[in-house]
Amino acid sequence: MHPSHGLRAVRVGSVTGAGLAGWQANSGRSLDFVRKVPVRYWCPQGHETVPVFADLTEAEIPQSWDCPKCGQTAGRERGLLVQHSGDEPFKSHLDYVKERRTPAEAAEALDRALTELRRHRTAPG
Ligand SMILES: [Zn+2]
Repeated sequence: MHPSHGLRAVRVGSVTGAGLAGWQANSGRSLDFVRKVPVRYWCPQGHETVPVFADLTEAEIPQSWDCPKCGQTAGRERGLLVQHSGDEPFKSHLDYVKERRTPAEAAEALDRALTELRRHRTAPG
């Protein structure tokens, strides 16, 4: 077995300094004797991330983790929003379109489209 097998989830040089690599660097102890503790995080999008830490105390486990799928901050409780101030939540183009358009405008746009459709149907040729 390759020595690094299974440790790929640990981010080297993470901002918190936590994680197996940081722990090993700080303690000088071999990872072979360390209990590995997977910690679950959920981002606002519902992605689940499970980085593996060395045998940390509760206080040493980071309260948040960057989601590797969408880059948002994941918290240790599902549905808990942990966000840096100034960060815009991820929105698709469609979300922005939906926001700009009120239900009345949407209905009007649909009505216009239907009228256009009927006109094409009844038009000769
Ligand atoms: Zn995510």
